[in-house]
Amino acid sequence: MQIVHPFAGSIQRYFDEIADPDRYRPDHCPQCEIKQSLTGHGFYRRTLVDAAFDGVIRVRRYLCLSCKRTVSLLPDFVLPWLRFSISVIALFLAARLLNGFTLVAAAQAAAPTVMPYQRGQFWIRRFQKQAPVLNLALVPLAAPGHPRDPAADFVSGALRMLESIGWIAAHRFLFSQLRVHLLGWSACLAPAGRRVMLAAACPAP
Ligand SMILES: [Zn+2]
Repeated sequence: MQIVHPFAGSIQRYFDEIADPDRYRPDHCPQCEIKQSLTGHGFYRRTLVDAAFDGVIRVRRYLCLSCKRTVSLLPDFVLPWLRFSISVIALFLAARLLNGFTLVAAAQAAAPTVMPYQRGQFWIRRFQKQAPVLNLALVPLAAPGHPRDPAADFVSGALRMLESIGWIAAHRFLFSQLRVHLLGWSACLAPAGRRVMLAAACPAP
């Protein structure tokens, strides 16, 4: 099971913080609910592309000795199964869908050296599909009196809510509380975020 953990600061600071297994050790198991702190269980590795980083990060994992299941502490600046950081995806989608930039200009605005605009087209398709869900799911986080424009379509409505709430804060809420993926679980993933049997047929994220 993946749980989202807030990390402020640089990627280097993230590396430093997760080096210590005690630092964010969960004091109970989120799966079987036993009130017993979890045991350090190494790391898994995943790729991350951010404006200033392109490489592999480690994700801290813990084991529950009671139910024998693992919990990983996914940093809140990444989305499950996507290589690019939330901030790059957010900059691209806002530039393209809110501000009307061309695909190439939006990619330039998001991550000038590392982002092919074709990647952005893939995010746009997923975001458009997910927008109706986001409009509903984000209501509890929207400020009271949030200027909801009844004429706005789902896409711009969701983008405006995300910009005002903050994309990372919105992702933490969606994933932790509702198991909703900001860009929607791809067809290759079951609702819990686990790969299903057909995963081999899915394109790499
Ligand atoms: Zn457990």
